[in-house]
Amino acid sequence: MASNQARQLAELLSLAVVPSGRPLHGSCAAGAIDGYPVAISWGKRLKQSTVAFLVRFRKGSLKVPAGALRDQAAGSAEILRAMERKKLSGAESKALLAGPDTLLFYWDYSFRAPKPEAAAALLRLLLGLVRGQALAVQNDCEVCGGRGLGELHSVGQALISVCSGCRERMGEEDRRATEAYDALPANPLLGTAAGAGVAIAAALAWGGVAYTLQKIFLYAAFMIGLAIAVAVHKGMGKVNLYGKVIAVPLTVASVLAGDFFFMCLSVAKELNEPLTLDLASRALPHFIQFEFSDSSGYVSVLFGVLGALGTLLVAKRPVQKRVFIPIVRTAS
Ligand SMILES: [Zn+2]
Repeated sequence: MASNQARQLAELLSLAVVPSGRPLHGSCAAGAIDGYPVAISWGKRLKQSTVAFLVRFRKGSLKVPAGALRDQAAGSAEILRAMERKKLSGAESKALLAGPDTLLFYWDYSFRAPKPEAAAALLRLLLGLVRGQALAVQNDCEVCGGRGLGELHSVGQALISVCSGCRERMGEEDRRATEAYDALPANPLLGTAAGAGVAIAAALAWGGVAYTLQKIFLYAAFMIGLAIAVAVHKGMGKVNLYGKVIAVPLTVASVLAGDFFFMCLSVAKELNEPLTLDLASRALPHFIQFEFSDSSGYVSVLFGVLGALGTLLVAKRPVQKRVFIPIVRTAS
């Protein structure tokens, strides 16, 4: 859903409305003004409400060092006047960024969001500043340099003008990289062994700490799940389904084994006997009752499983297909 402000601003400046969160976080108004690609969004940055302004220019055309452009934006009396401010806040000037082809400016607010008209005025000032120091991208392809062939696209976090030939070629590169990754040999044996090694070490640590401090830390179970999954993927040499699946039972086994170790230590102390395999085998039949007599056993296993599942979000394949979203103004 595009924010109302972004929609109104798009209307004001004849820009397109980009509903998804790219290239800025949150829906934005995007397009090209006089050949300079721009995107503006009303969104959040580190929990702070903000209007983000992205202004692109031709790479390599900046006449001053990027730092100087940044300082000009931060110190411009006109820009501050448009914001009705004496100066930028610390957070705003920290976030303000100028690169070899980009200026990124944030207008933070607490209660009343800057109106689309005010944002449009600020954008014009930023554009004026950039125009004085760098060339427009125009509709050239920024990848191959093809004159007049580029069409504005949002790709990941970037806003670039790129021709259809380059888009096709990049898509083909991504497809080949994915294929090459899929064809990489995996080592399930090493992956399982690495996961099992971490599981055993974690079980000993979990039981030992619980026994020493007479206390369990549920987030530690979560960390065990994470550590096991990371070890499995490292050992495998790649992220695949087998590794994702095997991490979960290994984590459950590790937490249960840790609790069993804790129980053995406690029994050994109670009976005043050394902890031996014989003692452990005598204790084993009572473990289920010990573990699940109250809720703590279930809860610690649950946290471990959450940790292992959490890695499913973290363990992403390193190759992803780039998605090109055309920035096109639709008639409304
Ligand atoms: Zn091209």
